[in-house]
Amino acid sequence: MSSSLSKPSPAETPATHASSGDAPAREETPVGLEEILQPLYDSLESGILLVGHDGLVTSCSLAMAMLFGRSPDEVLGLTTADVNKLVLSLLDEPAQRLREEGLFPQSTGVRCEEFELLEPSRTVVRWVARKVQCPHYATVAVGTDITADVDLTSAYEKMALTDRLTGIANRRGIERAIHHELLRLRRFQTPVSFALFDIDRFKIINDTHGHGTGDEVLRLVAKAMAGSLRETDLVSRWGGEEFLVVLTETTHAGALVCAEKMRAKVATLGEIVGFNVTVSGGVYQPGPGESIPDILAHTDGRLYEAKNNGRNRVC
Ligand code: GH3
Ligand code: MG
Ligand code: MG
Repeated sequence: MSSSLSKPSPAETPATHASSGDAPAREETPVGLEEILQPLYDSLESGILLVGHDGLVTSCSLAMAMLFGRSPDEVLGLTTADVNKLVLSLLDEPAQRLREEGLFPQSTGVRCEEFELLEPSRTVVRWVARKVQCPHYATVAVGTDITADVDLTSAYEKMALTDRLTGIANRRGIERAIHHELLRLRRFQTPVSFALFDIDRFKIINDTHGHGTGDEVLRLVAKAMAGSLRETDLVSRWGGEEFLVVLTETTHAGALVCAEKMRAKVATLGEIVGFNVTVSGGVYQPGPGESIPDILAHTDGRLYEAKNNGRNRVC
């Protein structure tokens, strides 16, 4: 006994019906597998592209064509070289590997890439192209729009590295930069200096004007400091009312000049808030072998020298 799901016996096949006279004979047009699969491809979020053994695109889903700002018909019949050219023309600065190797595997294997299309709209695409044998060689490519995922990840990353109150880097944010600069110092002897600032008598500001005003002062000081720096330097909120600055390619003498400029800029904030706002700063240029805790201890030592020498100065 055969179940309804089992393979039909030869007696039940349409060919038998057609020739037996039980059912009206009709001309059967063979339907290709790709025609059956096309609606399925078109319903997928990822774009699907099939390249036949002759190297021509035999199927292109709507989502894939839309990634490239084309209709499926415009992509059908293109060669893999045409598709490479089309995609490269939509990128700003294609990576060297993409320019040299294109989007399709040369022999059996898989080609995975991530690239950012600028046109027809900014889209980050994850591309996976695989050569398959069925029975001739063909290539199946899947292109997925991962823009939302990439943007969300980088937004989270940015949030984790940014101080919420002031909008500048937080401690974690600057630690990366410190690590990077110390590697450069060790390897290339590239000078780097550090400056640690602390708002003078901040407790009195809070106590006199309230925490809301204290917070506003923190924001203004952060802005004044960030505005006094070169693009390659980085300022962070290191702690409550302390700011750590990494000055790249800067010797101690240069760092003193820069820190003095920052101190002077902060000292002008009094005109905005109506009371004195000043910072004291300590500057230090480490040698190649120094650890981060050693460097911070030295910089902190200089800061406290500035505090002990009367505040509103850098040492
Ligand atoms: P000094 O000149 O010696 O640095 O004196 P100071 O008053 O600035 O130093 P102290 O360490 O005694 O006080 C720091 C104050 O900073 C105390 C703390 O409540 C305040 N503070 C830390 N973080 C914040 C913040 O996020 N917002 C506000 N409003 N105040 C903060
Ligand atoms: Mg402090
Ligand atoms: Mg202070």
